[in-house]
Amino acid sequence: MGQSSPGRYENDMSISLLADAGQRLEQALKYTSLSDDAIASLRHPKASLTVSIPVRRDDGSLSVFQGYRVRYDDSRGPGKGGVRYHPSVTLDEVQSLAFWMTFKCAVLNLPFGGAKGGIAVNPKALSRLELERLSRGYIAAIADFIGPDVDILAPDVYTNSMVMGWMMDQYSIIQRRSSPGVVTGKPITMGGSLGRDTATAMGAFFAIETMLPKFDLIPQNTTVAVQGFGNAGATIADLLFQAGYKVVAVSDSQGAIYCKTGLDIPSVRAFKDATRSIKAVYCDRTVCSIVDHDAMSNADLLALDVDILIPAALENQITDANARDVKAKLIFEVANGPITSDADQILQQNGVYVFPDILINAGGVTVSYFEWVQNRNGMYWTLEDVNQQLQRKMIEEAECIWTIAHSRSIPLRTAAYVHALERLGEAIDAKGTRRYYNGH
Ligand code: NAD
Repeated sequence: MGQSSPGRYENDMSISLLADAGQRLEQALKYTSLSDDAIASLRHPKASLTVSIPVRRDDGSLSVFQGYRVRYDDSRGPGKGGVRYHPSVTLDEVQSLAFWMTFKCAVLNLPFGGAKGGIAVNPKALSRLELERLSRGYIAAIADFIGPDVDILAPDVYTNSMVMGWMMDQYSIIQRRSSPGVVTGKPITMGGSLGRDTATAMGAFFAIETMLPKFDLIPQNTTVAVQGFGNAGATIADLLFQAGYKVVAVSDSQGAIYCKTGLDIPSVRAFKDATRSIKAVYCDRTVCSIVDHDAMSNADLLALDVDILIPAALENQITDANARDVKAKLIFEVANGPITSDADQILQQNGVYVFPDILINAGGVTVSYFEWVQNRNGMYWTLEDVNQQLQRKMIEEAECIWTIAHSRSIPLRTAAYVHALERLGEAIDAKGTRRYYNGH
């Protein structure tokens, strides 16, 4: 898409994951006493919009792209969710992503419902100017459907802060007033929040720190493997390294590196930034030299005998084909949907604790919420304030899910869904239930 940092996802879910998410929902419903009304409401997206976006190309020709925006549920507040640019975007996919957002916002107790948007386009095939026209055209087409009190946009796959800036600007032009609260993940100078870029990894870090003592672990003797070395993966690896954890393996799409004594993550990051590949390096002042490390495949990384495994790359990485190979005791899902529901069962039988994506990677949408709050009251927070508030929320909800899992003897993922469903059910029932209208 002609920019150095293309992907900043707030969420991610493919069509095949909708069936998987549906299974998990059915599983969680067994442990709730949700009213029939609430269950029925949650089975249908509230509103779905399909638009055609004409874009004048640089050569003077016209291309028309399909765009979508879905508000799945708004019983807890305005819709909230990212906008994805990808050739395979469909209405079905956007609906399923909006459904997932509904649960993530409820888990973190954010006053938002779930929404999502997307355009079926290969952004890498557009010039920067064409991309800007497309982004502004999308907002022109959906302007009546969104708004700071209705439905708030954010970055997702192949959209970034600059795209968010164009979208906010276009919405403000249409409304004839500055409307920063309609989009989060904006550039700082346009009302973005400090800490939004590291929020996902920071949230995951706070959750890990909260859970570690429950397993009698301390950072200094805790080994970690991280799959994926992008925005989320490299940042969580770095945060853990700085806190004294032994990060023994990291990977990107080309493969993994492993060092038994631990990798020097800042150096690996610097190397990756400079060369677009990862290597284990050790830097002593100005002199950097390659230290011994083993190259391995991503499959080998997932099977390493470590205390903590962090999938932070793609969906469907641990399936029924490789779940039995996993030796880690704890898995923290920074990626969306890295474990299939079949694999979940196997991991559970093998005593592996899986901390689910809808809690672990929710730091991103939480700081998006902080950005919206700052935009609305016009007072901007320090980075310290942002991280403190994020830490408080992550600890509170992680502890709550841990307690639900233990008190009801259910897996942590099911507990997270139960937690979200109870909040959603209460909000839906507050408007009246069959029992209420029948006078019971
Ligand atoms: P990114 O594009 O910045 O990085 C993705 C990383 O995964 C890259 O290092 C890439 O090389 C690596 N990768 C790609 N294919 C791989 C493979 N087959 N095996 C191993 N590594 C592979 O993306 P990101 O923003 O870091 O997002 C990663 C995951 O985290 C996604 O599932 C995303 O939905 C989820 N997530 C991210 C955020 C966020 O704020 N960044 C928020 C919520 C969820």
